[in-house]
Amino acid sequence: MNLVLMGLPGAGKGTQAEKIVAKYNIPHISTGDMFRAAMKDETDLGLKAKSFMDKGELVPDEITIGIVKERLSKDDCIQGFLLDGFPRTVPQADALETLLSQLDKRINYVIHIDVDKEELMGRLTGRRICKDCGATYHLVFNPPSKEGVCDRCGGELYQRADDNAETVQNRLDVNIKQMQPLLDFYQDKGYLRTINGQQDIDVVFQDIEKVLGGQSE
Ligand code: ADP
Ligand code: ADP
Ligand code: ZN
Repeated sequence: MNLVLMGLPGAGKGTQAEKIVAKYNIPHISTGDMFRAAMKDETDLGLKAKSFMDKGELVPDEITIGIVKERLSKDDCIQGFLLDGFPRTVPQADALETLLSQLDKRINYVIHIDVDKEELMGRLTGRRICKDCGATYHLVFNPPSKEGVCDRCGGELYQRADDNAETVQNRLDVNIKQMQPLLDFYQDKGYLRTINGQQDIDVVFQDIEKVLGGQSE
């Protein structure tokens, strides 16, 4: 099962990705997570990505496409994969089509989690993430049982550097501009499935399960 999760920043991609990969047993490939890991390790890639991420800009296509190519060629993607946050531009989507056809694969579904932009600012500024396992929480909408501590692993929760009000506004503007052509691209290919993301987290997941149906492999 080869899946793409799409949605504006804060739509709930990471939250739903955790549930999808647990149920369907496919690797979760998040370009944002890959860039953050590279930044933490201070690699060349991390240093390059940082200047864009700090401003809420997109990392240039050639860098982003390169890391996805490398990742999708790994053995654990043979049974399928879940791309989260990639593609974000039409050139990225084109590059993905080319790459997948070279690997003799195709996308099964593009799941678009649809949320009004008015809702997203509050979701992003209230987001907290576990330092150890990456689990996602929200101060109001999905709080951990003990403040500042991960329910799953006991790790400490932190706020992403780009989840401050100023950077969030730019990220939303940048991503809104890129979104519609990408939705049209996948609509034309027949892959697109749009899910109402403004429902409880579990209800959103049930709707995704309905799209994926019995396909567990
Ligand atoms: P994305 O990966 O698309 O940026 P996240 O999954 O990190 O989004 O979710 C953004 C924030 O919104 C997080 O704090 C998360 O806990 C919260 N959230 C996710 N889904 C919902 C939902 N259906 N209702 C309310 N809050 C949600
Ligand atoms: P969110 O969906 O909450 O904005 P991500 O973790 O997916 O967060 O992305 C964080 C940042 O990483 C983006 O603002 C951008 O700078 C960079 N990034 C992630 N994915 C891509 C991509 N496909 N193309 C370009 N930049 C990306
Ligand atoms: Zn944790």
